[in-house]
Amino acid sequence: MRGLMMDTPLLISSILEHARGVFADQQIVTRTVEGPIHRYTYAEAHARACQLANALAGLGVGQGDRIATIAWNTHRHFEIYFAVSGMGSICHTMNPRLHPSQVAYIVNHAEDRVLFVDLTFLPFVEAVADKLPSVRQIVVMTDRAHMPETKLADILCYEDLVNGHSDIYDWPTFDENTASSLCYTSGTTGHPKGVLYSHRSTVLHSYAVCLPDVMHLAESEAFLPVVPMFHVNAWGTPYAAPLSGVKLVMPGPGLDGASLTELMNAEEVTTTAGVPTVWLGLLNHWRQQKTSVPTLKRLVVGGSAVPRSMIEIFHDDFGIEVRHAWGMTEMSPLGSVNVLKSSLRDAPAERRFDVLSKQGRPIFGVRMKIVDEQDKPLPHDGKAFGTLKVQGPWVCSSYYKLDESEAHDAEGWFATGDVATLDADSYMAITDREKDLIKSGGEWISSIDIENLAMSHVQIAQAAVVGIADVKWGERPLLIVVPAPGTAPAKTELLKFFEGKIAKWMIPDDVVFVDSLPIGATGKVLKGKLREEYADYQPTGR
Ligand code: AMP
Repeated sequence: MRGLMMDTPLLISSILEHARGVFADQQIVTRTVEGPIHRYTYAEAHARACQLANALAGLGVGQGDRIATIAWNTHRHFEIYFAVSGMGSICHTMNPRLHPSQVAYIVNHAEDRVLFVDLTFLPFVEAVADKLPSVRQIVVMTDRAHMPETKLADILCYEDLVNGHSDIYDWPTFDENTASSLCYTSGTTGHPKGVLYSHRSTVLHSYAVCLPDVMHLAESEAFLPVVPMFHVNAWGTPYAAPLSGVKLVMPGPGLDGASLTELMNAEEVTTTAGVPTVWLGLLNHWRQQKTSVPTLKRLVVGGSAVPRSMIEIFHDDFGIEVRHAWGMTEMSPLGSVNVLKSSLRDAPAERRFDVLSKQGRPIFGVRMKIVDEQDKPLPHDGKAFGTLKVQGPWVCSSYYKLDESEAHDAEGWFATGDVATLDADSYMAITDREKDLIKSGGEWISSIDIENLAMSHVQIAQAAVVGIADVKWGERPLLIVVPAPGTAPAKTELLKFFEGKIAKWMIPDDVVFVDSLPIGATGKVLKGKLREEYADYQPTGR
């Protein structure tokens, strides 16, 4: 028997419509690319999104057309998200940190029709413009006064485009499974792959983002997404914000410790989200300047493993709760978030931080299992580790324009490429990315575990561990370290530090000191690059 409830489609336009009515005077604050702070309300953002939708219709943009952006987190980018998806077109956000040839590949693969670009990235677009035949219109996201000199012909100014149009637009209604937005995976090997989100997946994911034990977005809070809108839709937060009515604070290009601290303090931000490297920068700034953000209550951190020491410092020194989150582009991206179970609240600190270092418990909607090489489920004992597979309404079912996907199995599970444990309380811990695990003498070593431990050493600012070939053991771990500012750690002392903390055979064979680690387009350490660089490295012994 079917239920007798309305089959109202879950559409992205309905989120902003809701905010226009219910949270009409709630603010969206942006540090603009041009410099000054811009401030307006959800009601005004809705009006501008309507103007933009009318403008795009005027340019001949129709349902299903792909509209690309290369832009920071700003109010204009927010308007594009809602105008484009709301009118039934597809908002394709592109990562400006990718190599220009990758960007050209992606635009051509997506067949983007219009390209919105921030002032910062115009030179980048100029360099590849002649390789983008599908793009009929480039729009620079600024006002007339800031329009730059450019060799590109027929470019439009965003404010001119928007201003000429009515702020009344009748958002169309269509099937909630219609495509809404497109992101490409980082593609460390082979071409990037397109993940095509739907209105339904986006709306359901937005509900999840707002939950108290996820990002805790609410009308009474102020949220600043550091995670860029060009990487997995800023973890879905631009959609979740108007759903919840949270005050939205957009940092624009100002992602350094000083700019973030100033903006967070000025706007009394309570929650923020981003990758660990950003928070390392923020912590350094706070230490050097003896400052902090007293209103900040929680920090959602993911994208790569959060060092345990970072969770401890934010908690102990600043009273800020770090919520370790895990996800993927293929998962919209949220899969799990770590909030301490109430029964552990009074547990000894050591135990609490052990749990908080894990990648958290699945969010409702995401199912998880770990399997061995024969695809047999492994026990949830916190020890057995295997391939992590997921399922859910905001997990991709296949890739855009790709017939085959090795990652999807016949039962509808998606293999994440991560290796993980699950414990009896459902806390998931990533052991490693499959290709980053180190196999030494037939035993697996987790590079993440060693990095985590290394980062708790006061003289280590950043650490990466990769496997190097070894005649006897197959592979052995090599520790690559960026020393903390003003320190000169000794190799033997660092290696001694591991003794008694991990099994002897897991201790790296050598330490290499570097000024910086190679970081990829999405803020992750490029382990593949390090493996290549140190492929022939000969350890000099402990
Ligand atoms: P992306 O699709 O670029 O967001 O990358 C997703 C991948 O990042 C995951 O499959 C993990 O390997 C890694 N990742 C994301 N969050 C975490 C985390 N909290 N800890 C460890 N790895 C993570």
